[in-house]
Amino acid sequence: MRVDVVTIFPEYLAPLDLSLIGKARASGTLQLAVHDLRRWTHDVHRTVDDTPYGGGPGMVMRPEPWGQALDELAGPQTHLIVPSPAGAPFTQATARALAAEDHLLFACGRYEGIDQRVFDHAAARMRVSEISLGDYVLFGGEVAVLVVLEAITRLLPGVLGNADSLVDESHADGLLEAPMYTKPPSWRGLDVPEILRSGDHGRIARWRREQALQRTAERRPDLIAALEERSRGTDQGA
Ligand code: SAM
Repeated sequence: MRVDVVTIFPEYLAPLDLSLIGKARASGTLQLAVHDLRRWTHDVHRTVDDTPYGGGPGMVMRPEPWGQALDELAGPQTHLIVPSPAGAPFTQATARALAAEDHLLFACGRYEGIDQRVFDHAAARMRVSEISLGDYVLFGGEVAVLVVLEAITRLLPGVLGNADSLVDESHADGLLEAPMYTKPPSWRGLDVPEILRSGDHGRIARWRREQALQRTAERRPDLIAALEERSRGTDQGA
C-alpha cells in the first residue's frame, strides 16, 4: 500500500519509523512518504494560512498549497483522507476498508482547518473521506494520522507475526475481547481462572465468548445493540 501524508509538521510523524510500522516500511509492505506542505508555497515566509472569511478567531489554511500538493501526489487510485472532528467516526470497519486501498493520501489540517474548496475541488477527481477520532478537538491532524495508520497497517498481510491475532481481538466480530492472563498462575493473591489452565479448548472458547458478551454488555451496550440490529437485518434479508 502506498501512503502519502501532507503536514506542516513532518517531524510529528517520526514514530512511523518505529516498531511494526517501521518494519512494514522497511519490508515495502507500507510505502510511506511524509511531505512538508510548505514545499508548495512560493512566498518568502512560506505562508500556509490566512484569516477566515466572515470573521472569527484563528486562521484557516489557504487552498493554493493544498491544491498543488494534491495535484502532484494524487493519482487514479487515490483516496484522500482528511482528519476532522466533523468527520465520520473512525472504527475498525473503516480501518478494514482502508487497508484494502492502493493509495491513501492524508491531509493534516492545523489552525481552524483547511479551506473547504480544497475538498470540493478534490471530490471531482478522487474519493474524499473526512474521518474523526472522536468527539473532541485536537491541535492538528497528525495524531489522527498516527492512529489511523497504525490501525490500518496491522491489518496488512504479513505485518503481524500471527494473523490469528486479528480474528479474536476486540471489534473483530463486534464484541470486546475477553480478559487475558499470562504466567504466573497466582499473583498477589489473584488466580488465573481455572478454566484457562484446563487445556480443554472447547470450554475455553465458550468461556471466552461468554466473557466477551458480558464485558461488551457492561461496557459498550451500544455494540450489542448494533450486533442485534445487524442480525435482524440479516434475518429479514434471508
Ligand atoms: N475548527 C475545527 C472545528 O471546529 O471543526 C477544528 C480544527 S482543529 C483545531 C485542527 C485540525 O485538527 C483539524 O483540521 C483536523 O485535521 C485535526 N483534528 C482535530 N480534532 C480532530 C478529531 N477529533 N479527529 C480527527 N482530526 C482532528
